[in-house]
Amino acid sequence: MFKKKIETPFYALIASFINVVLYNIPLFKLGYNNIELSTFNGVLLITSLVITAIVSNFFIFYIAVYLLRHVGKWLLILFFIINSLCVYFIVNYGVLIDRSMIGNILNTNYDEASSFISFTLLSYLIFLGVLPSLFIYRLKYERVKLKPFLLHCSLALIFLLSITYVNAPNWLWVDKNSKTLGSLVMPWSYVANTIRFYHKENKQNQKQTLLPDAKITNDRKSIVVLVIGESARSANYSLYGYDRNTNPLLAKIKDLHVYEAQSSATYTTAGVKAILDYKESNDLNEILPNYLNRNDVEVIWRTTNWGEPKVNIKNYQDQNYLRELCEGTECDYDDVLLYQLKDLIVKSKKNKILIVLHTSTSHGPTYYKKYPPEFEQFTPVCKSVELSNCTNQELVNAYDNTILYTDYLLAKVIENLKQLNEYNSGMIYVSDHGESLGEKNLYMHGIPLSIAPKEQFEIPFIVWTTDKSLQFKNKKTLSQYNVFHSILDFLEVESPIYDKDMSILKK
Ligand SMILES: [Zn+2]
Repeated sequence: MFKKKIETPFYALIASFINVVLYNIPLFKLGYNNIELSTFNGVLLITSLVITAIVSNFFIFYIAVYLLRHVGKWLLILFFIINSLCVYFIVNYGVLIDRSMIGNILNTNYDEASSFISFTLLSYLIFLGVLPSLFIYRLKYERVKLKPFLLHCSLALIFLLSITYVNAPNWLWVDKNSKTLGSLVMPWSYVANTIRFYHKENKQNQKQTLLPDAKITNDRKSIVVLVIGESARSANYSLYGYDRNTNPLLAKIKDLHVYEAQSSATYTTAGVKAILDYKESNDLNEILPNYLNRNDVEVIWRTTNWGEPKVNIKNYQDQNYLRELCEGTECDYDDVLLYQLKDLIVKSKKNKILIVLHTSTSHGPTYYKKYPPEFEQFTPVCKSVELSNCTNQELVNAYDNTILYTDYLLAKVIENLKQLNEYNSGMIYVSDHGESLGEKNLYMHGIPLSIAPKEQFEIPFIVWTTDKSLQFKNKKTLSQYNVFHSILDFLEVESPIYDKDMSILKK
Protein backbone atom coordinates (compact mmCIF):
# COMPACT_ATOMS: atom_id res chain seq x y z
CA MET A 1 0.00 0.00 0.00
CA PHE A 2 2.88 2.34 0.72
CA LYS A 3 4.77 1.41 -2.41
CA LYS A 4 2.37 2.99 -4.80
CA LYS A 5 2.44 6.74 -5.09
CA ILE A 6 -0.76 8.73 -5.07
CA GLU A 7 -1.24 12.18 -6.50
CA THR A 8 -0.76 15.28 -4.35
CA PRO A 9 -4.44 16.29 -4.14
CA PHE A 10 -5.39 12.85 -2.81
CA TYR A 11 -2.58 12.98 -0.34
CA ALA A 12 -3.82 16.36 0.92
CA LEU A 13 -7.37 15.07 1.01
CA ILE A 14 -6.41 12.03 3.10
CA ALA A 15 -4.45 14.24 5.51
CA SER A 16 -7.39 16.61 5.76
CA PHE A 17 -9.78 13.75 6.40
CA ILE A 18 -7.60 12.34 9.19
CA ASN A 19 -7.27 15.81 10.66
CA VAL A 20 -11.02 16.42 10.69
CA VAL A 21 -12.02 12.99 11.94
CA LEU A 22 -9.41 12.62 14.67
CA TYR A 23 -8.96 16.12 16.02
CA ASN A 24 -12.12 18.06 15.40
CA ILE A 25 -14.61 15.90 17.25
CA PRO A 26 -14.88 18.47 20.10
CA LEU A 27 -15.77 21.06 17.46
CA PHE A 28 -18.53 18.94 16.00
CA LYS A 29 -19.74 18.04 19.44
CA LEU A 30 -20.17 21.74 20.13
CA GLY A 31 -22.13 22.04 16.88
CA TYR A 32 -24.19 18.99 17.72
CA ASN A 33 -25.09 20.34 21.17
CA ASN A 34 -25.87 23.85 19.99
CA ILE A 35 -27.70 23.30 16.74
CA GLU A 36 -31.34 22.34 16.34
CA LEU A 37 -30.97 19.19 14.25
CA SER A 38 -34.66 18.66 13.52
CA THR A 39 -34.72 21.62 11.15
CA PHE A 40 -33.43 21.80 7.59
CA ASN A 41 -31.29 24.75 8.56
CA GLY A 42 -29.70 22.85 11.42
CA VAL A 43 -28.81 19.90 9.20
CA LEU A 44 -27.45 22.32 6.59
CA LEU A 45 -25.30 24.04 9.17
CA ILE A 46 -23.73 20.95 10.66
CA THR A 47 -23.14 19.35 7.24
CA SER A 48 -21.57 22.60 6.07
CA LEU A 49 -19.34 22.68 9.12
CA VAL A 50 -17.99 19.21 8.36
CA ILE A 51 -17.54 19.83 4.64
CA THR A 52 -16.00 23.27 5.18
CA ALA A 53 -13.53 21.77 7.62
CA ILE A 54 -12.50 19.04 5.18
CA VAL A 55 -12.23 21.33 2.15
CA SER A 56 -10.47 24.21 3.88
CA ASN A 57 -7.91 21.90 5.48
CA PHE A 58 -7.45 20.23 2.12
CA PHE A 59 -6.85 23.63 0.56
CA ILE A 60 -4.13 24.60 3.02
CA PHE A 61 -2.48 21.17 3.27
CA TYR A 62 -2.43 20.91 -0.51
CA ILE A 63 -0.64 24.25 -0.88
CA ALA A 64 1.76 23.29 1.91
CA VAL A 65 2.83 19.93 0.49
CA TYR A 66 2.89 21.26 -3.06
CA LEU A 67 5.02 24.30 -2.37
CA LEU A 68 7.07 23.18 0.61
CA ARG A 69 7.38 19.52 -0.44
CA HIS A 70 9.08 17.61 2.36
CA VAL A 71 8.82 20.46 4.79
CA GLY A 72 5.06 20.45 4.17
CA LYS A 73 4.94 16.79 5.14
CA TRP A 74 6.81 17.43 8.38
CA LEU A 75 4.52 20.32 9.09
CA LEU A 76 1.54 17.96 8.89
CA ILE A 77 3.27 15.59 11.31
CA LEU A 78 3.95 18.45 13.72
CA PHE A 79 0.28 19.45 13.52
CA PHE A 80 -0.88 15.89 14.22
CA ILE A 81 1.33 15.60 17.29
CA ILE A 82 0.27 18.95 18.76
CA ASN A 83 -3.37 18.26 17.82
CA SER A 84 -3.34 15.04 19.82
CA LEU A 85 -2.16 16.92 22.94
CA CYS A 86 -4.72 19.69 22.46
CA VAL A 87 -7.55 17.18 22.08
CA TYR A 88 -6.43 15.54 25.33
CA PHE A 89 -6.73 18.83 27.23
CA ILE A 90 -10.00 19.80 25.55
CA VAL A 91 -11.60 16.45 26.35
CA ASN A 92 -10.20 16.03 29.87
CA TYR A 93 -10.10 19.58 31.18
CA GLY A 94 -12.65 21.38 29.02
CA VAL A 95 -10.05 23.99 28.05
CA LEU A 96 -10.36 26.24 25.01
CA ILE A 97 -7.25 26.79 22.92
CA ASP A 98 -7.45 30.57 22.65
CA ARG A 99 -4.84 33.30 22.89
CA SER A 100 -4.66 33.40 26.65
CA MET A 101 -4.47 29.60 26.88
CA ILE A 102 -1.50 29.68 24.49
CA GLY A 103 0.02 32.30 26.79
CA ASN A 104 -0.52 29.99 29.76
CA ILE A 105 1.11 27.10 27.92
CA LEU A 106 4.11 29.15 26.81
CA ASN A 107 4.53 30.50 30.34
CA THR A 108 4.32 27.08 31.96
CA ASN A 109 7.41 25.85 33.72
CA TYR A 110 8.63 22.28 33.85
CA ASP A 111 7.20 21.53 37.30
CA GLU A 112 3.74 22.53 36.27
CA ALA A 113 3.87 20.74 32.93
CA SER A 114 5.13 17.50 34.45
CA SER A 115 2.19 17.40 36.83
CA PHE A 116 -0.02 16.71 33.80
CA ILE A 117 1.84 13.65 32.52
CA SER A 118 -0.35 10.58 32.78
CA PHE A 119 -1.06 7.28 31.09
CA THR A 120 -4.06 8.71 29.26
CA LEU A 121 -2.02 11.65 28.01
CA LEU A 122 0.58 9.26 26.60
CA SER A 123 -2.16 7.14 24.98
CA TYR A 124 -3.56 10.21 23.25
CA LEU A 125 -0.08 11.09 22.08
CA ILE A 126 0.62 7.62 20.67
CA PHE A 127 -2.76 6.73 19.17
CA LEU A 128 -3.87 10.15 18.00
CA GLY A 129 -0.47 11.69 17.35
CA VAL A 130 2.33 9.28 16.54
CA LEU A 131 0.42 6.56 14.64
CA PRO A 132 -1.40 8.90 12.20
CA SER A 133 1.92 10.73 11.72
CA LEU A 134 3.67 7.47 10.80
CA PHE A 135 0.93 6.73 8.31
CA ILE A 136 1.17 10.13 6.66
CA TYR A 137 4.96 9.88 6.67
CA ARG A 138 5.03 6.52 4.89
CA LEU A 139 2.40 7.51 2.35
CA LYS A 140 4.17 8.62 -0.85
CA TYR A 141 2.82 11.12 -3.29
CA GLU A 142 3.64 12.35 -6.76
CA ARG A 143 3.46 16.05 -7.45
CA VAL A 144 0.96 17.09 -10.07
CA LYS A 145 1.84 19.74 -12.64
CA LEU A 146 1.32 23.43 -11.93
CA LYS A 147 -1.79 23.79 -14.07
CA PRO A 148 -3.91 21.12 -12.36
CA PHE A 149 -2.60 22.41 -9.00
CA LEU A 150 -3.93 25.90 -9.71
CA LEU A 151 -7.19 24.46 -11.01
CA HIS A 152 -7.74 22.36 -7.85
CA CYS A 153 -7.00 25.30 -5.63
CA SER A 154 -9.42 27.57 -7.47
CA LEU A 155 -12.14 24.91 -7.33
CA ALA A 156 -11.67 24.48 -3.59
CA LEU A 157 -11.81 28.23 -3.09
CA ILE A 158 -14.97 28.64 -5.17
CA PHE A 159 -16.53 25.77 -3.27
CA LEU A 160 -15.71 27.38 0.09
CA LEU A 161 -17.14 30.72 -1.00
CA SER A 162 -20.37 29.11 -2.20
CA ILE A 163 -20.85 27.13 0.98
CA THR A 164 -20.39 30.34 2.97
CA TYR A 165 -22.96 32.02 0.76
CA VAL A 166 -25.49 29.19 1.09
CA ASN A 167 -25.10 29.45 4.86
CA ALA A 168 -25.84 33.16 5.01
CA PRO A 169 -28.73 32.60 7.44
CA ASN A 170 -26.28 30.94 9.81
CA TRP A 171 -23.66 33.67 9.92
CA LEU A 172 -25.13 35.00 13.08
CA TRP A 173 -24.78 31.62 14.78
CA VAL A 174 -21.19 31.34 13.62
CA ASP A 175 -20.46 34.86 14.82
CA LYS A 176 -22.05 34.22 18.20
CA ASN A 177 -20.00 31.07 18.70
CA SER A 178 -16.87 32.32 16.99
CA LYS A 179 -14.80 32.42 20.17
CA THR A 180 -15.44 28.80 21.03
CA LEU A 181 -15.39 27.60 17.43
CA GLY A 182 -12.08 29.34 16.80
CA SER A 183 -10.54 27.68 19.81
CA LEU A 184 -11.57 24.17 18.78
CA VAL A 185 -10.59 24.10 15.10
CA MET A 186 -7.41 22.03 14.96
CA PRO A 187 -4.70 22.95 14.10
CA TRP A 188 -5.69 26.53 13.28
CA SER A 189 -6.74 27.38 16.82
CA TYR A 190 -3.19 27.20 18.16
CA VAL A 191 -1.52 28.39 14.97
CA ALA A 192 -3.57 31.59 14.87
CA ASN A 193 -3.56 32.07 18.63
CA THR A 194 0.20 31.62 18.93
CA ILE A 195 0.62 34.39 16.36
CA ARG A 196 -1.91 36.53 18.23
CA PHE A 197 -0.13 35.84 21.53
CA TYR A 198 3.28 36.92 20.22
CA HIS A 199 1.77 39.94 18.60
CA LYS A 200 0.37 40.99 21.97
CA GLU A 201 3.62 40.11 23.78
CA ASN A 202 5.57 42.27 21.37
CA LYS A 203 3.28 45.14 22.08
CA GLN A 204 3.65 44.58 25.81
CA ASN A 205 7.40 44.07 25.79
CA GLN A 206 7.71 47.74 25.40
CA LYS A 207 8.83 49.35 28.58
CA GLN A 208 6.35 49.93 31.36
CA THR A 209 5.06 53.48 31.23
CA LEU A 210 6.30 55.20 34.37
CA LEU A 211 3.63 56.73 36.56
CA PRO A 212 4.01 60.28 37.90
CA ASP A 213 6.18 60.40 41.04
CA ALA A 214 4.62 59.67 44.39
CA LYS A 215 5.37 61.28 47.74
CA ILE A 216 5.61 59.75 51.19
CA THR A 217 3.66 62.11 53.39
CA ASN A 218 4.88 61.24 56.90
CA ASP A 219 7.37 59.07 58.75
CA ARG A 220 4.92 56.81 60.53
CA LYS A 221 6.07 53.22 60.23
CA SER A 222 3.61 51.23 58.20
CA ILE A 223 3.61 47.96 56.40
CA VAL A 224 1.26 46.13 54.05
CA VAL A 225 1.54 42.47 53.20
CA LEU A 226 -0.22 41.76 49.92
CA VAL A 227 -0.91 38.05 49.54
CA ILE A 228 -1.80 37.05 45.98
CA GLY A 229 -3.79 33.81 45.92
CA GLU A 230 -3.69 31.23 43.15
CA SER A 231 -6.91 29.73 41.76
CA ALA A 232 -8.75 30.44 45.02
CA ARG A 233 -12.50 30.76 44.61
CA SER A 234 -14.58 32.39 47.29
CA ALA A 235 -17.30 29.72 47.13
CA ASN A 236 -15.08 27.32 49.09
CA TYR A 237 -14.30 29.70 51.95
CA SER A 238 -16.45 29.35 55.03
CA LEU A 239 -15.94 33.10 55.46
CA TYR A 240 -18.03 33.42 52.29
CA GLY A 241 -20.71 31.02 53.50
CA TYR A 242 -19.31 27.64 52.45
CA ASP A 243 -20.83 24.97 54.66
CA ARG A 244 -17.49 23.28 55.40
CA ASN A 245 -15.21 24.84 57.95
CA THR A 246 -12.31 25.75 55.68
CA ASN A 247 -11.40 28.91 57.64
CA PRO A 248 -11.14 27.81 61.28
CA LEU A 249 -8.26 30.20 62.06
CA LEU A 250 -9.37 33.30 60.19
CA ALA A 251 -12.83 32.91 61.72
CA LYS A 252 -11.29 33.59 65.14
CA ILE A 253 -9.58 36.80 64.07
CA LYS A 254 -11.43 39.98 64.95
CA ASP A 255 -11.79 42.91 62.58
CA LEU A 256 -11.43 40.91 59.43
CA HIS A 257 -13.00 42.62 56.40
CA VAL A 258 -14.38 40.09 53.97
CA TYR A 259 -15.41 41.53 50.61
CA GLU A 260 -17.19 40.01 47.64
CA ALA A 261 -14.94 40.41 44.60
CA GLN A 262 -14.58 39.46 40.97
CA SER A 263 -11.35 38.92 39.08
CA SER A 264 -10.63 40.76 35.83
CA ALA A 265 -9.57 37.59 34.05
CA THR A 266 -9.59 33.84 34.51
CA TYR A 267 -5.88 33.21 34.12
CA THR A 268 -2.79 34.08 36.12
CA THR A 269 -0.88 36.61 34.01
CA ALA A 270 -3.89 38.87 33.52
CA GLY A 271 -5.21 38.40 37.06
CA VAL A 272 -1.88 39.30 38.66
CA LYS A 273 -1.43 42.27 36.33
CA ALA A 274 -4.86 43.58 37.34
CA ILE A 275 -4.00 43.29 41.03
CA LEU A 276 -0.86 45.38 40.48
CA ASP A 277 -2.17 47.91 37.96
CA TYR A 278 -3.81 51.20 38.88
CA LYS A 279 -6.55 50.94 36.27
CA GLU A 280 -7.95 48.66 33.63
CA SER A 281 -6.14 49.17 30.33
CA ASN A 282 -4.25 47.36 27.63
CA ASP A 283 -1.20 49.51 28.29
CA LEU A 284 1.77 48.37 30.23
CA ASN A 285 1.70 50.74 33.19
CA GLU A 286 4.32 50.69 35.88
CA ILE A 287 3.10 48.10 38.37
CA LEU A 288 2.63 48.75 42.07
CA PRO A 289 5.86 47.14 43.42
CA ASN A 290 8.02 48.90 40.83
CA TYR A 291 6.24 52.18 41.42
CA LEU A 292 6.55 52.12 45.20
CA ASN A 293 10.12 50.85 45.05
CA ARG A 294 11.06 53.76 42.81
CA ASN A 295 9.40 56.14 45.27
CA ASP A 296 11.35 55.12 48.34
CA VAL A 297 9.11 52.43 49.78
CA GLU A 298 10.82 49.19 50.81
CA VAL A 299 9.39 46.51 48.53
CA ILE A 300 10.01 42.80 48.91
CA TRP A 301 8.53 40.29 46.51
CA ARG A 302 8.44 36.59 47.38
CA THR A 303 7.01 34.03 45.02
CA THR A 304 6.44 30.32 44.50
CA ASN A 305 4.43 31.09 41.38
CA TRP A 306 5.00 32.42 37.87
CA GLY A 307 3.23 34.46 35.20
CA GLU A 308 4.08 37.76 36.86
CA PRO A 309 4.67 41.05 35.05
CA LYS A 310 8.27 42.25 35.23
CA VAL A 311 9.10 43.10 38.85
CA ASN A 312 12.12 45.43 38.82
CA ILE A 313 13.22 45.45 42.44
CA LYS A 314 16.33 44.22 44.18
CA ASN A 315 14.43 42.18 46.77
CA TYR A 316 12.86 39.73 44.36
CA GLN A 317 12.98 36.29 45.99
CA ASP A 318 11.80 33.29 44.00
CA GLN A 319 11.20 29.79 45.32
CA ASN A 320 14.69 28.51 44.52
CA TYR A 321 16.22 31.34 46.50
CA LEU A 322 13.81 30.85 49.41
CA ARG A 323 14.10 27.07 49.56
CA GLU A 324 17.85 27.41 49.74
CA LEU A 325 17.53 29.51 52.91
CA CYS A 326 14.64 27.75 54.57
CA GLU A 327 15.03 24.51 56.53
CA GLY A 328 12.26 22.10 57.49
CA THR A 329 9.44 20.23 55.74
CA GLU A 330 7.22 23.31 55.70
CA CYS A 331 9.69 24.83 53.21
CA ASP A 332 8.36 22.49 50.54
CA TYR A 333 5.06 24.33 50.63
CA ASP A 334 3.94 27.95 50.55
CA ASP A 335 5.04 28.31 54.16
CA VAL A 336 8.43 29.06 52.62
CA LEU A 337 7.08 32.50 51.69
CA LEU A 338 6.74 33.34 55.38
CA TYR A 339 10.27 32.26 56.28
CA GLN A 340 11.69 34.82 58.76
CA LEU A 341 9.11 37.31 57.63
CA LYS A 342 9.29 39.32 60.84
CA ASP A 343 13.08 39.65 60.71
CA LEU A 344 12.79 40.85 57.16
CA ILE A 345 10.55 43.68 58.30
CA VAL A 346 12.53 44.59 61.38
CA LYS A 347 15.76 44.78 59.39
CA SER A 348 14.36 47.31 56.99
CA LYS A 349 15.54 50.87 57.47
CA LYS A 350 12.57 52.38 55.72
CA ASN A 351 9.33 53.54 57.26
CA LYS A 352 7.04 52.30 54.54
CA ILE A 353 7.16 48.66 53.54
CA LEU A 354 5.24 46.58 51.00
CA ILE A 355 5.69 42.82 51.00
CA VAL A 356 4.08 40.82 48.21
CA LEU A 357 3.66 37.09 48.66
CA HIS A 358 2.69 35.40 45.40
CA THR A 359 1.41 31.97 46.44
CA SER A 360 0.61 28.88 44.39
CA THR A 361 -1.38 26.88 46.94
CA SER A 362 -4.58 26.04 45.06
CA HIS A 363 -3.03 25.43 41.66
CA GLY A 364 -4.38 22.30 39.98
CA PRO A 365 -4.53 19.65 38.86
CA THR A 366 -2.46 18.14 41.72
CA TYR A 367 -4.15 19.97 44.58
CA TYR A 368 -3.16 17.24 47.02
CA LYS A 369 0.53 18.06 46.56
CA LYS A 370 0.10 21.69 47.57
CA TYR A 371 -0.32 21.33 51.34
CA PRO A 372 1.54 19.49 54.14
CA PRO A 373 0.05 16.10 55.19
CA GLU A 374 -1.46 17.48 58.42
CA PHE A 375 -3.76 19.67 56.34
CA GLU A 376 -5.36 16.69 54.66
CA GLN A 377 -8.47 16.94 56.77
CA PHE A 378 -11.10 16.47 54.11
CA THR A 379 -10.72 12.93 52.79
CA PRO A 380 -10.51 10.90 50.60
CA VAL A 381 -8.69 13.13 48.14
CA CYS A 382 -8.20 12.93 44.39
CA LYS A 383 -4.66 11.82 43.59
CA SER A 384 -5.00 11.54 39.84
CA VAL A 385 -3.99 14.28 37.45
CA GLU A 386 -6.96 13.34 35.31
CA LEU A 387 -9.56 15.18 37.25
CA SER A 388 -12.48 13.49 35.57
CA ASN A 389 -11.17 10.13 36.91
CA CYS A 390 -11.83 11.18 40.48
CA THR A 391 -15.22 11.44 42.06
CA ASN A 392 -16.25 15.03 42.37
CA GLN A 393 -16.14 14.72 46.16
CA GLU A 394 -12.50 13.58 46.10
CA LEU A 395 -11.60 16.52 43.94
CA VAL A 396 -13.43 19.01 46.15
CA ASN A 397 -11.82 17.44 49.24
CA ALA A 398 -8.33 17.97 47.85
CA TYR A 399 -9.18 21.52 46.84
CA ASP A 400 -10.74 22.31 50.24
CA ASN A 401 -7.54 21.17 51.93
CA THR A 402 -5.65 23.80 49.93
CA ILE A 403 -8.09 26.43 51.23
CA LEU A 404 -7.61 25.14 54.77
CA TYR A 405 -3.86 25.54 54.28
CA THR A 406 -4.36 29.05 52.88
CA ASP A 407 -6.40 29.84 56.00
CA TYR A 408 -3.40 28.80 58.10
CA LEU A 409 -0.95 30.85 56.02
CA LEU A 410 -3.04 34.02 56.21
CA ALA A 411 -3.57 33.63 59.96
CA LYS A 412 0.18 33.20 60.32
CA VAL A 413 0.88 36.41 58.39
CA ILE A 414 -1.51 38.23 60.72
CA GLU A 415 0.13 36.65 63.80
CA ASN A 416 3.50 37.92 62.57
CA LEU A 417 2.21 41.41 61.96
CA LYS A 418 0.51 41.58 65.36
CA GLN A 419 3.87 41.15 67.06
CA LEU A 420 5.35 44.20 65.37
CA ASN A 421 4.00 46.80 67.74
CA GLU A 422 5.81 49.79 66.38
CA TYR A 423 4.19 49.37 62.95
CA ASN A 424 0.81 50.17 61.57
CA SER A 425 0.22 47.03 59.64
CA GLY A 426 -2.26 45.55 57.25
CA MET A 427 -2.77 42.47 55.13
CA ILE A 428 -4.69 42.20 51.88
CA TYR A 429 -5.42 38.81 50.42
CA VAL A 430 -6.82 38.59 46.92
CA SER A 431 -6.83 35.76 44.40
CA ASP A 432 -5.74 36.00 40.75
CA HIS A 433 -8.88 34.16 39.54
CA GLY A 434 -11.23 31.38 40.60
CA GLU A 435 -11.39 27.70 39.69
CA SER A 436 -13.82 25.19 38.21
CA LEU A 437 -14.12 21.87 40.02
CA GLY A 438 -16.21 19.92 37.56
CA GLU A 439 -19.25 22.21 37.43
CA LYS A 440 -20.60 22.16 33.84
CA ASN A 441 -17.89 19.60 33.17
CA LEU A 442 -15.19 22.27 33.41
CA TYR A 443 -11.99 21.97 35.38
CA MET A 444 -9.37 24.47 36.46
CA HIS A 445 -9.64 27.90 34.77
CA GLY A 446 -8.88 29.92 31.64
CA ILE A 447 -12.29 30.11 29.98
CA PRO A 448 -12.63 33.62 28.40
CA LEU A 449 -14.17 35.91 31.00
CA SER A 450 -17.18 36.82 28.86
CA ILE A 451 -18.37 33.21 28.86
CA ALA A 452 -16.68 31.91 32.03
CA PRO A 453 -18.78 30.39 34.82
CA LYS A 454 -18.81 32.36 38.08
CA GLU A 455 -16.60 29.78 39.83
CA GLN A 456 -13.73 31.03 37.68
CA PHE A 457 -14.01 34.71 38.61
CA GLU A 458 -15.63 34.99 42.06
CA ILE A 459 -12.60 35.45 44.29
CA PRO A 460 -11.87 36.10 47.96
CA PHE A 461 -10.75 39.60 48.96
CA ILE A 462 -9.88 39.71 52.65
CA VAL A 463 -8.41 42.64 54.55
CA TRP A 464 -7.03 42.97 58.05
CA THR A 465 -5.32 45.87 59.77
CA THR A 466 -3.97 46.89 63.17
CA ASP A 467 -4.98 50.51 62.81
CA LYS A 468 -8.31 50.81 64.63
CA SER A 469 -8.78 54.38 63.46
CA LEU A 470 -9.20 53.32 59.85
CA GLN A 471 -12.71 53.33 58.45
CA PHE A 472 -13.72 50.89 55.74
CA LYS A 473 -16.19 51.61 52.99
CA ASN A 474 -19.19 49.40 52.49
CA LYS A 475 -18.39 48.29 48.99
CA LYS A 476 -20.58 45.66 47.41
CA THR A 477 -18.27 43.96 44.96
CA LEU A 478 -14.59 44.79 44.67
CA SER A 479 -12.36 44.42 41.67
CA GLN A 480 -8.65 43.68 41.60
CA TYR A 481 -8.00 47.32 40.66
CA ASN A 482 -9.02 48.34 44.20
CA VAL A 483 -5.75 46.93 45.54
CA PHE A 484 -3.42 49.60 44.13
CA HIS A 485 -5.29 52.59 45.56
CA SER A 486 -6.03 50.95 48.90
CA ILE A 487 -2.34 50.20 49.43
CA LEU A 488 -1.41 53.83 48.64
CA ASP A 489 -3.92 54.78 51.33
CA PHE A 490 -2.63 52.29 53.88
CA LEU A 491 0.95 53.42 53.45
CA GLU A 492 -0.06 57.08 53.23
CA VAL A 493 1.71 57.62 49.95
CA GLU A 494 0.43 60.53 47.87
CA SER A 495 0.23 60.14 44.13
CA PRO A 496 -1.34 62.09 41.25
CA ILE A 497 -2.88 58.87 39.93
CA TYR A 498 -4.50 57.98 43.27
CA ASP A 499 -8.26 57.50 42.85
CA LYS A 500 -10.21 58.02 46.06
CA ASP A 501 -13.20 56.05 44.79
CA MET A 502 -11.01 53.03 44.19
CA SER A 503 -9.69 52.82 47.74
CA ILE A 504 -11.56 50.68 50.23
CA LEU A 505 -10.73 53.15 53.00
CA LYS A 506 -12.85 56.11 54.01
CA LYS A 507 -10.82 59.27 54.32
ZN1 LIG B 1 -3.59 31.59 38.46
